[in-house]
Order: sequence, then structure tokens, then C-alpha cells
Amino acid sequence: MDHIITVFEDKQVQAFFTKKLEDFETFKKSLPFKIYLPIQKHTDWVHVLEGNFIPQIADAIITNRKSVLIGIKTADCVPILIYCPDKKVIGAVHAGWRGTAKGILRKTIKKMVEIYSCKKENLLIAIGPHIRGCCYEVGEEVIDAMKSQISNNDYIISKNGKFHIDLGIANIIQAIEEGVKQENILKLDECTYCKSNEYASYRFHGKDAGRQYGFIGML
Ligand SMILES: [Zn+2]
Repeated sequence: MDHIITVFEDKQVQAFFTKKLEDFETFKKSLPFKIYLPIQKHTDWVHVLEGNFIPQIADAIITNRKSVLIGIKTADCVPILIYCPDKKVIGAVHAGWRGTAKGILRKTIKKMVEIYSCKKENLLIAIGPHIRGCCYEVGEEVIDAMKSQISNNDYIISKNGKFHIDLGIANIIQAIEEGVKQENILKLDECTYCKSNEYASYRFHGKDAGRQYGFIGML
């Protein structure tokens, strides 16, 4: 399917990012497992999915359960999938600038270590399609909020006297600072704004942008 980008070459895990889905309900029926999506609110809350499948307010989910696809939906924000092949644990993170500034990826990694004894150096991370530095101009309040979580400034781009940020790079820095190996992080190059014909872009399309998804599940 050309609207799916698969990540993590491992027979025991299915992980993929979609492009904009016009008909999510039909797409859902094509999936091999039941799905779990949290109620996203730009928080830094990490939900540990155990027996109860009632959707909770959270912007990250982790679980060691098999035969369930955990996912998040985005329109410019960064979808992030995490896999711990050693302990067989998965995670899905929704990181917009607010979540990134609150350290949601860092907190998700910590929770995987705390709850499931994952080792940070074994974690594999995939950063999905999002609005990149080319197109994401922000105000100073965003830069200030980001700086509180991320010491390195490599994600900030100065362009025509304005500030742009690259949320994918900001999250990579956060993961590496937390102890994830750089070679274990995959970042897709697609920019949702540059490719707004294929992706939902809140900046480009506004509130009726629609959504793309990131999903991960274990067999
Ligand atoms: Zn762009």
C-alpha cells in the first residue's frame, strides 16, 4: 500500500506510519489487530496499557501486550514509535511543540525503563512524518518553552529574521540525551507541510486538515 511507510525490520513487530487517511473507519477494518488510540490533549501523560481498553487522556502509550496496535494521530505534530526488542515492549508518542517542550518522549522512555525494565541502549525509535524546520516558523514563547527541556540548540533554524524549529531533531536530541543510541533512531524525511497533498497539515489546511497515523503492535 503506497499510503503506508513500514519501520523496524523485525518479524515480531508491525510498525508503520500512514499518510493522510481519508477513510479511517475502512482502514481500521484492514488492520490485523484491534487498535488503541488515546485521547490526545498535548499533555505529557504516558498511559500504560494493561487490561482496560477504554481510551484514556494521554499523548503517549506503552504496553507489553501482544495483538493490539497502539497508535497516535497527527497533523504536523511528530508521531514517534518505540520498540524494545529485548523486553518486547512498544510505545507510541504524539509530540507537538507543547509535548516536546514538556519532555514527553523523555518521559515515555523513562516509563518503559521503570515499568518494563527496558534498557535505553536497546530501544529503537522511529520518527514519522511531521512539519519540518523548512516550514515550521514559531514565536519566541515556543523557543523559550523548548529550551527548558533541550539544552542543545541544533533544532532551531534562523530563516529571514524569523525562527523556525525542527521538532523531529528536537526529539532526537531529547532521546539521545536520555540515553538512546543515535544509530537506533530512524527519522523519516517527509515534511507534512511541503507534501500537504499527501499529508494532513494543520498549518496548511487548518482545522479540517484530517489526520495521519502511526501504529505499532506485536504479534
Ligand atoms: Zn517543509
